[in-house]
Amino acid sequence: MQNPFETEERRAFRETIRRYVEAEIKPNIDEWDEAGDFPWRVHEELGAMGFFGFGVSDAHGGLGFEDAFMRAAAAEEMCRAGGTSVWAGVSGRTISIGPIEHLANEEIRERALEDIVLGRKGSCLSITEPGGGSDVANMQTTAVRDGDEYVINGSKTFITGGMNGHYFVVGARTGGEGLAGISLFFVDADTPGFSRTPLERKMGWWASNQATLYFDNCRVPAGNMMGEENRGFIAIMENFNFERLALIAGALGMMKTCLEESIAYAQERKTFGKPLIKHQVIRHKIAEMSAKVDQIESYLIMMCWQISEGNMPVAEICKGKFATTKALEFCASEAMQIFGGAAYLRGNPIERIYREVKVFAIGGGSEEIMHDLAMRQMGL
Ligand SMILES: Cc1cc2nc3c(=O)[nH]c(=O)nc-3n(C[C@H](O)[C@H](O)[C@H](O)COP(=O)(O)OP(=O)(O)OC[C@H]3O[C@@H](n4cnc5c(N)ncnc54)[C@H](O)[C@@H]3O)c2cc1C
Repeated sequence: MQNPFETEERRAFRETIRRYVEAEIKPNIDEWDEAGDFPWRVHEELGAMGFFGFGVSDAHGGLGFEDAFMRAAAAEEMCRAGGTSVWAGVSGRTISIGPIEHLANEEIRERALEDIVLGRKGSCLSITEPGGGSDVANMQTTAVRDGDEYVINGSKTFITGGMNGHYFVVGARTGGEGLAGISLFFVDADTPGFSRTPLERKMGWWASNQATLYFDNCRVPAGNMMGEENRGFIAIMENFNFERLALIAGALGMMKTCLEESIAYAQERKTFGKPLIKHQVIRHKIAEMSAKVDQIESYLIMMCWQISEGNMPVAEICKGKFATTKALEFCASEAMQIFGGAAYLRGNPIERIYREVKVFAIGGGSEEIMHDLAMRQMGL
């Protein structure tokens, strides 16, 4: 799909990420997935390419500008090679950098941000709790003021990058019940009272890590509150927009892989005396997949354009997220059928994509929550 807003800089950035993924991630992804980890140098190499620098000032190691098209291209290219678990493994940083740049105090930004943006240290967004993730306004972790400190108690779970993260953006209750009682805090991993355990044996995203975090009388300086007291819910909701945009773009990359791999396989594999691609049923499957790729790609381009015009298209992002995850589910399922038994084996990219569909439909706001939020954004 031709992007009318493409520029030389955007094309070059996409190419840089694509070449890196082809050379460094694709050949290793199976081994890293089976090992459940990937080398830290990947964080630093992506950092050096500007992967984490969007919306961060150059004084803090960032690019000094925002570009939704480049953000989307980065996510799409990372996921296109079937490397979604590596992308997930660095994404804890991507979804927590915004609040740190915009809401943390100057001492924290000076101390931590450059290391995070350049991939030397990891940061994580810690919102979901064992008691629930969708109902953010109902979070139970508390932060109580005691002199010039806050004392945090509670736990978080499913926190991506949590096992090797150095810094945590943590949502906690500072006020009464509901969305008006939540604040954000910056917590160093070496703070006494902080501990973590890994979530193991996951359906997908094997090379990334997710953790349950525990805060047991965890004391942080009062200045570690990020933004205004009891205004954390709004910050969390605003931060979701870029996370969801990246999930849409990542899912699009996976859909493209499903399409390309299906075409290549259907051209080569023969049944009943002719290539699969000459059978009408298979042709229709591929045509449907191709139409979905085009629809999602053009929708994504328009969302990026709106953001570049200074408007955050929240309703479109919500609708785009559930439409994309449904389209990804379709493409992954049809690609599996076209491959037959061959995609049932580990090491086949379609096998990996098929079992990573669901995390896109659940993480960063589930399909059900996206429908509901889209309706509310439409005033309904
Ligand atoms: C691999 C992975 C990585 C993650 N990384 C992070 C991370 O880095 N940081 C972080 O904070 N969180 C993270 N999450 C958590 C993720 O955001 C939550 O799983 C998600 O928000 C859903 O919350 P839940 O799992 O607690 O489901 P619940 O909120 O318990 O919901 C269960 C089901 O009910 C549905 N549901 C809930 N309410 C309604 C309703 N009102 N109407 C209809 N249906 C409803 C939901 O859609 C869902 O299908 C991650 C999750 C996964 C799986």
